[in-house]
Amino acid sequence: MTLHAQQPKDAKMDVFVTQLMKKMTIDEKIGQLNLQTEGDIVTGVGGNSLSTERLKKGLVGGMFNIKGAAKIRAIQKIAVEQSRLKIPVLFGMDVIHGYETIFPIPLGLACTWDMPAIEQSARIAAIEASSDGICWTFSPMVDITRDPRWGRVAEAGGEDPYLGGRIAEAMVTGYQGKDNFSSNTDIMSCVKHFALYGAVEAGRDYNPADMSTFRMFNDYLYPYQAAVDAGAGSVMASFNSVNGTPAHANRWLLTDVLRKQWHFNGFTVADYGGVGELVNHGLGNIQQVSARALKAGLDVDMVSEGYLSTLKKSYQEGKVTLAEIDAACRRMLEAKYKLGLFANPYKYCDESRASKSIYTPEHLAIARKTAAESFVLLKNEQHLLPLKPGKTIAVIGPLANTRSNMVGTWSVAADLTKPATVVEGLQAAAGPDTKIIYAKGSNLFADSTMEANGTMFGRKLDRDNRTDNQLRAEAIKAAEKADVIVAVMGEASEMSGESSSRTDISIPDVQENLLKELVKTGKPVVLVLFTGRPLTLVWEDKNVPAILNVWFGGSEAANAIGDVVYGKVSPSGRLVSTFPRSVGQIPLYYNNFSTGRPASDHGFEKFRSNYMDEKNAPLYPFGYGLSYTHFSYGDIKLSASELSTKSNVTAAIEVKNDGKEDGDEIVQLYIHQRVGSTVRPVKELKGFQRIHLKAGEAKTVRFTIDNDMLKYYNADLAYKAEPGDFDVMIGTNSRDVKSTKLTLK
Ligand code: BGC
Repeated sequence: MTLHAQQPKDAKMDVFVTQLMKKMTIDEKIGQLNLQTEGDIVTGVGGNSLSTERLKKGLVGGMFNIKGAAKIRAIQKIAVEQSRLKIPVLFGMDVIHGYETIFPIPLGLACTWDMPAIEQSARIAAIEASSDGICWTFSPMVDITRDPRWGRVAEAGGEDPYLGGRIAEAMVTGYQGKDNFSSNTDIMSCVKHFALYGAVEAGRDYNPADMSTFRMFNDYLYPYQAAVDAGAGSVMASFNSVNGTPAHANRWLLTDVLRKQWHFNGFTVADYGGVGELVNHGLGNIQQVSARALKAGLDVDMVSEGYLSTLKKSYQEGKVTLAEIDAACRRMLEAKYKLGLFANPYKYCDESRASKSIYTPEHLAIARKTAAESFVLLKNEQHLLPLKPGKTIAVIGPLANTRSNMVGTWSVAADLTKPATVVEGLQAAAGPDTKIIYAKGSNLFADSTMEANGTMFGRKLDRDNRTDNQLRAEAIKAAEKADVIVAVMGEASEMSGESSSRTDISIPDVQENLLKELVKTGKPVVLVLFTGRPLTLVWEDKNVPAILNVWFGGSEAANAIGDVVYGKVSPSGRLVSTFPRSVGQIPLYYNNFSTGRPASDHGFEKFRSNYMDEKNAPLYPFGYGLSYTHFSYGDIKLSASELSTKSNVTAAIEVKNDGKEDGDEIVQLYIHQRVGSTVRPVKELKGFQRIHLKAGEAKTVRFTIDNDMLKYYNADLAYKAEPGDFDVMIGTNSRDVKSTKLTLK
């Protein structure tokens, strides 16, 4: 990657910041490095709260997760009217997949493979958040995730670096706009979590990550770099350690890679309490770890107050230099300058905007369309879906009648009472002639503590105190009266997200037992599956005729489910994370390295890389997803069979919709280097196109392949393409591809 779209040095900004910093005391400089939550400010803006006092003293650089332009204006007013140097405060928030209009969780959003739609979701999030006073979002999260035990897979874009890179660019552009924050709808993005948070050991949150630099540079670092290259204004450190050094104190990451190699010139910020947690990591006391983090290149301290309480002392004791404090302070001030806050500290505090721009019908309509695009049809025997209106359906399951669980994890600004329930969405789509019989059928978990842990932050599921048998009996009765059963099950919203690691990633027992009973009735069963991670679904895949994975689709999830279940929209989402057959296969991803003893096609064989008790293959591969129609692929035609370092080759393939419905297909290009100086992945995604084909229509899809596309970081970490033969593969998912040979001269 060589884009380097980080803003060039701005001479005017340099002069402005230099002049300002000349006037600043060391306390005021350190104050800029302090990012805090509102604390008691909500009730104490005019009073003598701690935050108010700090604002007056210039000891607050930024604040986050405060909702409402009026509230933010009041705080800003203290900073710019009552502090000595009138430096405005930066207001951040976790605007992750929408503000009040919520889009699918990032994992679902990624499954659209629709970069314009992803960019638009970030743009709408920026428009809404900025209407409420926010100018900085802690998004995108671009951690590569290959372990579905980790709950935060819900918040990222899956297992593939190339796709992750494209998503990172789309999100950054959507948030920041394309014209240096010229509009008050442009907000600063914060790429997170730097780095390798998705590779925490055993999928347990906050655990260490240990990885070769070879893998880091080829896979895990790429999306962060893509976001930096797209101009991201800030970068958040990750909670984990990286090869022994916690990211918050990791100078190699924060300075050598990020600044020296990638030319990042924005500011870096800690994750929540991350500086203080260096004490738990065993790097010393709060003073020592704060100095260490600053020296590593961490500019802003989020809530730990380690910088605020110790950096001056460290400076006086010669443990940090003024130059180090100045460098961090300068970057924070530059961010405010770039956003235009010095020119107008109230740029984002136009109280009249909120009612016109937040949760509008236009935004909701786009969210609905995007949600439908994110759903992945995993199975559809005998065209059970789409359903035809008019038949009686039994809608059964603990997630069928909830509003608060629709939007998914990390939607802090959402009004959880607004989304429609699945029952409502289906009824609206099917119309009044369709009878819906609803029964809960089971709780989320048999165990109430497990249920409480999976339904935090207002996402309750109103536990039913009847016994499992009573609930199930009621559901069976409902099922018997229906033509079709729609089982609405899976994970509740807070079973994924931060600190929601699981060792068992199946549908919770009590729900699966219910599903088994429903299947036993002999009625056709459609499983509408809610989940924030890949699940193990071997039994479901074998026994349930139709499975529609809907992730958490956001504000309009239920209506989008209605659209897809009743055939107004044909599903087009494609998996961005491999679905394993069992937890024992994890990590399982499509772009693995070849081994010296590949598995045979005929089951277990001794002395091969295979399992005695499970296949190597996943249940559903990366890129997989069905449609209501069917697409067939011709053969790949290359414009030339050889490629030089200067020429391009076009790979063309005819894709035909040979089914009976119109539909969208995601055509995927993979390559494989047959011989390399190191091991090479068996397949690597290098391009994709989302196309719409009417029933019967065919299109030729073309990809340009050039030398750059074939480059990788070799054992010396030199980024080069190696001459030789490559397989060029194009298909509907990472498993089912057409293939041809291309030679790089
Ligand atoms: C999360 C971040 C988030 C931050 C601020 C942390 O716990 O790891 O992703 O941006 O909190 O809310």
